Amino acid sequence: MTEVREYLNLIGGELRPATGGGTLDSVNPATGEVWAKIPRSTAQDAADAVAAARKALPRWSALPAAARAHVLRNVAYAFAQNAKELAEIETTDNGRIISETAKRDVPGMTYLWHMAAAECGAAVEGKSVILGPKSMGFTRREPYGVVLGIIPWNSPISTFSAKAAYALAAGNTVIMKPAEQATVSTLRLGELLRDVLPPGTLNIVSGLGEEVGDALVRDRGINKITMTGSTETAKIITRASTDALKPMDFELGGKAPNIVFADADLDAAAEGITTMSIFTANAGQACVAGSRILIQRPIYDEMIERMTAIAKNIKMGDPLSLETTMGPISSREQYERVTSYLEIGVKELRVCQEEIFGPVAVAIPFDTEEEAVAIANDSTYGLAAGVWTTDLGRSQRMFRDLQVGYVWVNTYRKIVPGLPFEGMKDSGYGHDSVLANTRERSCVIEH
Ligand code: NAD
Repeated sequence: MTEVREYLNLIGGELRPATGGGTLDSVNPATGEVWAKIPRSTAQDAADAVAAARKALPRWSALPAAARAHVLRNVAYAFAQNAKELAEIETTDNGRIISETAKRDVPGMTYLWHMAAAECGAAVEGKSVILGPKSMGFTRREPYGVVLGIIPWNSPISTFSAKAAYALAAGNTVIMKPAEQATVSTLRLGELLRDVLPPGTLNIVSGLGEEVGDALVRDRGINKITMTGSTETAKIITRASTDALKPMDFELGGKAPNIVFADADLDAAAEGITTMSIFTANAGQACVAGSRILIQRPIYDEMIERMTAIAKNIKMGDPLSLETTMGPISSREQYERVTSYLEIGVKELRVCQEEIFGPVAVAIPFDTEEEAVAIANDSTYGLAAGVWTTDLGRSQRMFRDLQVGYVWVNTYRKIVPGLPFEGMKDSGYGHDSVLANTRERSCVIEH
């Protein structure tokens, strides 16, 4: 049995346990063993993190953009220098296979921190309008202040980066609250970045959503919330924060349709759907999981056969092995939830509507393009969709008509820094970017 290491919060530049010393177990989903302990933070820790972030704000927000960019590039180097360790921690903590964490997540996030550094200048650009010979108007962009980032368990390093990098680039100080089921990579980042960022600029408090998460959401010292997680939690957060109005961005769940037309390259569609969209990709535990596979009737049987053949070659096993193409479901609780849907699927239609968040998909035949759009849009969610077709006009029409924020044509799950990743309907609103972390104020001068 491996040694169980205890990780700490980062508050005001100090690594510290939760007030009162409470901890939670972090379980390796591949073995079921407790492999780390994390702080079970309290309302006092939340208040301390807010005080530390507020104290650091005047200095960080007053730094010239070029100086902030320099610091963020050093964060990117810290990611690059510790890439192997970070990937292994993420895989051990939440079961994402090592080929995803080592080849996609950590390198991708190194790039994202560099991108955020490059965009620091955009955060201080305003606009000016000549109103007459003696009158002009202009704007100035400012950071919101203290930004709270709330993270889900399915891809902590990526979500941490998208929230922290852009908020910091815009001159905000941040508090990150990772999910209790997969916290360790975020706490390790706290250790690694402690000497890279000025004290209090980045604070990390771990613990339960309904305890420390709720205390943070209600705190009037928080100026903006960016949350990625379930629609249900987003509604709880919205209700809890009504006494202290603050802007919020929500990146939430989905029930993405993957639509295959008879004119598609069927090899590419079968491979893409099976390995990039639903089954192997994070064992279906992705907000964009293409869990509704819509297939045009003439190719329905053939597509099912092709996908079944590919699925038979999926290699399940140790997520730390590069040979493994599908890792575990990330907790016992989640495993039971996912498998319960297999029974539900036989009896009723909920599997076509509810987010299962596991390697489970439904296949639905359709006849016409209009019918495909109608089925695809018949969902409370509106996050993403896949379209497989060789008809360029059809791909344009599908992009226009599908009520989702992100559409992939003849590919899947390519989430590119620089393109907004934003849901519709119950999939949320707002997205993480540098400008989204600023407010723009106006002034008119006459003389
Ligand atoms: P969750 O909603 O249960 O938890 C998300 C975070 O909210 C956790 O850090 C949790 O501790 C915190 N939280 C819970 N209750 C809270 C409260 N009362 N106050 C403040 N914080 C609270 O989600 P999850 O199970 O961790 O993640 C899975 C969900 O996330 C799925 O629905 C998935 O689709 C979604 N997701 C969306 C995206 C996206 O970008 N759209 C990306 C990844 C995951």
